[in-house]
Amino acid sequence: MSAVDSVLQLVRPEILALAPYSSARKESKGGRVWLDANENPETPMVRQPLLNRYPDPQPPELIAKLAALYGVSPAQALVTRGSDEGIDLLLRTFCRAGQDAILITPPTYGMYIVAAGIQGAATLSVPLVHGKNFALDTEAVIATGLAPPKPADAGEGRVKLVFLCSPNNPTGGLLDRAAVLKVVKALAGRAIVVVDEAYVDFSGVSSLAAEIATNPNLVVLRTLSKAFGLAGARVGTTLADPAIIAVLQKVIAPYPVPAPVLASALAALSEEGLTAARESVASIVAERIRVADALPQLAAVKRVWPSDTNYLLIEVADATRTMAAGRAAGVIWRDRSKDVPNCIRITIGTAEENNATLEVLSRV
Ligand SMILES: *Cc1c(COP(=O)(O)O)cnc(C)c1O
Repeated sequence: MSAVDSVLQLVRPEILALAPYSSARKESKGGRVWLDANENPETPMVRQPLLNRYPDPQPPELIAKLAALYGVSPAQALVTRGSDEGIDLLLRTFCRAGQDAILITPPTYGMYIVAAGIQGAATLSVPLVHGKNFALDTEAVIATGLAPPKPADAGEGRVKLVFLCSPNNPTGGLLDRAAVLKVVKALAGRAIVVVDEAYVDFSGVSSLAAEIATNPNLVVLRTLSKAFGLAGARVGTTLADPAIIAVLQKVIAPYPVPAPVLASALAALSEEGLTAARESVASIVAERIRVADALPQLAAVKRVWPSDTNYLLIEVADATRTMAAGRAAGVIWRDRSKDVPNCIRITIGTAEENNATLEVLSRV
């Protein structure tokens, strides 16, 4: 079996057999008089151009720019409504309800388990190692990923997707690249390894996307929400082998990129936009370093975890009291105590906003 076939045999059989919805915009190109999609010939109220027309399902200009940015070919890229939609598409494409499972490495991003729950897939957990700066428990991940399915009544099926978040949310550190690749190679033909790189732009290390060409069971998730400041626009990209992208195309909603979103994304990805994003990332990283250096001098702060992201996870004596002090001053952080005891996740904002963080914490 070829490497690509071994990936396709992981897809839900009913999705492989599915005839996807064929939209008017997919079926026809290059006309003069467009009377095929029951659109209104104009937009009565809004004067913005082209809002009366259905958008291109995967705008080629946007795909070309995203592929160039992420260092893949256009056939390896699918644009989605945020990378959250990419997570959902992967669940629905690969996991059979009541049969298949995902593997996560907590503490980690909460959407994986939610998407699995919606799809009716079980979630197996192999925790990151707290005593080793939240490192991957590589051998345990591989062993769990390879384990044969338990009987259906045990509620745990075969692992189809392994979600690795690097840098990890909420802990902030990168996973070891060699360890991640070891998992990818060990699970070749057995499971898809999804590396969520929502924060990799802040880390200074290169993406794993270049490894997709030689590892068709590797999927990488990227987003314009964080480094490009476009969380409100909802632009994520799933990077994968073209065969996987083609299957995800069958599952994705017909028009995931609204026309105003396309305009914003193209502006962000222009030469000017890329330069501005690089400058923004550099100043956020400089602020993160400044705040990370200042925090340990405050009595309330017991520990600052190393960060390769635009946030810091800190351990305090009493997270509930600290959160309340923040709220009283109108400063909102995220309590992550349920994931890591007495830990709070603090996003790096402007210098002024970060000073507010430091000021409030200095009084706790
Ligand atoms: C913010 C975040 C996302 C979601 O990004 P969107 O593109 O806005 O959907 C995905 N993964 C992680 C780890 C995140 O923190």
